[in-house]
Amino acid sequence: MADRTRSKTCWDEANRYLVGGVNSPVRAFSAVGSEPFFVMRAHGSRVYDIDGNSYIDYVCSWGPLILGHAPPAVVNAVAQAVAKGTSYGMPTPGETELARTIVEYVPSIEKVRLVNSGTEATMSAVRVARGFTGRNKIVKFAGCYHGHVDPLLVKAGSGATTLGVPSSPGVPDGCTRDTIVLPYNDVEAVRAAFTQDGREIAAAIVEPVAGNMGVVPPRSGFLEELRTQTSAYDSVLIFDEVMTGFRVSRGGAQELYGITPDITTLGKIIGGGLPVGAYGGKREIMDAVAPIGPVYQAGTLSGNPLAVAAGKATLEALSSAKVYEKLEARSFLLEEGLRRAASKSRTEVSFSRVGSMMTVFFTSEDVFDYESALRCDTKRFAKFFRAMLDGGISIAPSQFEAAFVSTAHSRRDIDATILAAEKAFQAA
Ligand code: PMP
Repeated sequence: MADRTRSKTCWDEANRYLVGGVNSPVRAFSAVGSEPFFVMRAHGSRVYDIDGNSYIDYVCSWGPLILGHAPPAVVNAVAQAVAKGTSYGMPTPGETELARTIVEYVPSIEKVRLVNSGTEATMSAVRVARGFTGRNKIVKFAGCYHGHVDPLLVKAGSGATTLGVPSSPGVPDGCTRDTIVLPYNDVEAVRAAFTQDGREIAAAIVEPVAGNMGVVPPRSGFLEELRTQTSAYDSVLIFDEVMTGFRVSRGGAQELYGITPDITTLGKIIGGGLPVGAYGGKREIMDAVAPIGPVYQAGTLSGNPLAVAAGKATLEALSSAKVYEKLEARSFLLEEGLRRAASKSRTEVSFSRVGSMMTVFFTSEDVFDYESALRCDTKRFAKFFRAMLDGGISIAPSQFEAAFVSTAHSRRDIDATILAAEKAFQAA
């Protein structure tokens, strides 16, 4: 087993001063009965801990690093930007350039507003949808995560149409009273909810490929039905593409499945590893936002020049279709290899992949919604995770996350990963 003595010391110290030792809960590794390694640096496909161990990294900062760690184009762009100042609180041409690139690649977005995180993007998108329609109710789907936004922080309810119960103390019932939680991929539930409440529904928000219960693709007809129902009732359709934007295809899941939402939320990749989020969509809806319209939303550091420089450099690198072909080819190799490794050790797993995001579910059954995801054997996943880490492979410390392949992952990386997985499946 790798020596992680220094990480252990840092972990003890971190727990004295930071809540749970971390600044975002999943990083605590508690779901896999382990403790995190502390990072010293990262380059390409690899991350190096402070004990000198190196790992092939499929966390990729939870999605943003589609070019791998420290790609020269992004590092140079940020270095040049920082020398000119870190923030001005005044407009810069770079913000317009990043916005123009987003609008070019994602045709459903006519106008965009930059914010600082995915959470801010979805929070603002819901506010605009409510302000624009003059309605309060929101439809969300069990197992979809949209950041820690009060009205969206609602657990899976049982039954077809469950009015939301907050899943965190500190979120008053009043905040989630207007949230309707439906099962993912359930066309009938969508129809029933709109038949009952359609005229009061401001928006439906969905991860068009779910990534926060593990990767769960939309079944044929699901996104179509959402589009049909929201259009029929003049509700706003929000695609939360914080994870899938510029990931599953350059134009996001909406390009892949050919469905046009009214508002899209973005984050992760568009910031190239710096804190950025964005929401954008139809001009008439976006013009409801201040300073043009009455819906208020603002940010001291929004459009920050360093973040914008990193985002622009990342999106420029994604301008060639070849990038996505390469990502698909590498991801396919990885999936095939993992399938072989699992069947060699007779491990019953179910694979789910859309482009360069994938999950190995520890269940033999098909995973298509939150309920079926919860049937996974998380204890076996935890063993798998720990064995992978010992084999030099870093995946997210939770069964309900995606693994991300970047352009920096080489064939050798993929081969090494498959080899480690053979042992890890046996250990599980
Ligand atoms: N939406 C989706 C689909 C996400 O995956 C995430 C983060 N994993 C968020 C929103 C929230 O983004 P952030 O963590 O940047 O606030």
